[in-house]
Amino acid sequence: MTKHGLPRTCPHCGSSELRFARKGEFPLHYIVLRKFLACKTCGNVFQPSSALTSALLLILLGGPASVGIAATLFSRPSPLKVAIYGPALLFSVAMFYEGCRVLMYWRGRRRQERETR
Ligand SMILES: [Zn+2]
Repeated sequence: MTKHGLPRTCPHCGSSELRFARKGEFPLHYIVLRKFLACKTCGNVFQPSSALTSALLLILLGGPASVGIAATLFSRPSPLKVAIYGPALLFSVAMFYEGCRVLMYWRGRRRQERETR
């Protein structure tokens, strides 16, 4: 265990000198991805598995929420409903979308790691 509660080591070089990745160092700019870590030794930027857990949560919450809100909104649309449920729908769809993006990115990285090994 290191300070800041980062229990991990760099998957590339094994160093435990880690910091949080800064904006621009990781390929996606989403809320979950502030959990990206960077290695102080070799500069490798990687995604700890906690980010994957967040992604799955976003999908599990955002997916059903989107469907439910959309069903409510479009059953009998009114300006008031659009004002209330519109932003909520956008938010839940964004959650779902972000979760999928993180998951796809993570899968791509896994494949890359297998191929270079
Ligand atoms: Zn490293």
